[in-house]
Amino acid sequence: MRTDAATTVFNLPGYRVTSAEVLACGQRRIRVESVLEAGCRGCGVISARRHSRRLQRVRDIRVAGPVEVIWSKRRFFCDEPECGRKTFAESTPQVPAYSRSTARLRQALTEAVIGSGRAASETATAFGVSWWLVQRALDAAVLKLPDVDSLAPVRLGIDEHRFRSVRFFQDPATKAWTRYEPWMSTLVDLDTGQVLGVVDGRDSTGVGDWLKARPLGWRLGVQVVAIDPSAAFRKALRMWLPRTAVSVDAFHLSMLANAMVTEVRQRLCQEAKGRRGRATDPVWANRRLLLKGAERLSDRGRNRLQVVFAVDDSTGGLQAVWDVKEQLRTLLRTGSIADATAAKAELGRLVDRAGQPEARRLYRTVCRWWNEIEVLIVTGATTAKVEANNTAIKNIKRTGRGFVNNTNYKTRILLRSAARTAA
Ligand SMILES: [Zn+2]
Repeated sequence: MRTDAATTVFNLPGYRVTSAEVLACGQRRIRVESVLEAGCRGCGVISARRHSRRLQRVRDIRVAGPVEVIWSKRRFFCDEPECGRKTFAESTPQVPAYSRSTARLRQALTEAVIGSGRAASETATAFGVSWWLVQRALDAAVLKLPDVDSLAPVRLGIDEHRFRSVRFFQDPATKAWTRYEPWMSTLVDLDTGQVLGVVDGRDSTGVGDWLKARPLGWRLGVQVVAIDPSAAFRKALRMWLPRTAVSVDAFHLSMLANAMVTEVRQRLCQEAKGRRGRATDPVWANRRLLLKGAERLSDRGRNRLQVVFAVDDSTGGLQAVWDVKEQLRTLLRTGSIADATAAKAELGRLVDRAGQPEARRLYRTVCRWWNEIEVLIVTGATTAKVEANNTAIKNIKRTGRGFVNNTNYKTRILLRSAARTAA
């Protein structure tokens, strides 16, 4: 198709440039008209009988600098006798009915925010548009995401993250203060890594309501769900995915074991010295060494740890709980139920030998989550993908500079994840 030079340069699909002028202020004004046939919005019948023209200002991307775009928009008679509309204004794929901006602008705004992770306000300034326009473009993009119910995830992961610091809001009428829950839970397809849903809170209601809203077939298709050791998530899953195997995340269990070692170290130090640890105490100075996985210790580290146990831990209590921690890590690395069961028996023996209340508590947690640990060992389903998403979420929080509206925040998470999954 041959077009004139201005139309080719301006390159707005479905439009022809009718004139271009430079205003006194240096601003360029481009006048355009649609080259597409116009179909009635009531009945769809195409009409060529023109009623009137009206000038409409349309926001658009910058084309070699800022431009003001004026669309000479036509109104047509609808000649279809059955149709209730007498006249209709034309609309195009670039500028649909009621829109005041071009599709290419909205696309560019969405890409700037989602693709490069820029803040909405920053993008608005760069494009010379309002923050609202950027946010509306994002909201519209979310509506175009594939319907979660049309996906068929086999393995799900659920994880919580802090959305921001705790806030309190006062009801102006009752003067009552309510605590605003700063937690959100993310549901991720473990095979694609795509965020399927973001819900408020980290209790069973948020996740439960989300699962409840999914069709039965969708829920039956899920075979494994990986979660943190959170009783609330487990409750929601028993309710809405009763036949699905639940796996608990190995990393979170290792963290519980590390927390146990730290607690015992602090308590033993307090008991032995009657004060908190100091840099001069080997056990305090080498606290990180205690938490490192045994297989990752260098020879030097291993020797230092032996010294710590020999010099600073006369009771042997610390070495005993360190053995418990390492045994739990060994257990989580086993590849079969038989090996895991044997490792658990050994863990029980080590806990008895240690005789520390913190170690017993850890062992009770392991027992309470044993079914989920077995699923973890057989399926290897962990929340690692969810954690990766949470890192991306932290970036969104940082560039968003604290979202006032958490719907906007959820929008951003879903779009970013969809973009990453498609890439
Ligand atoms: Zn019509």
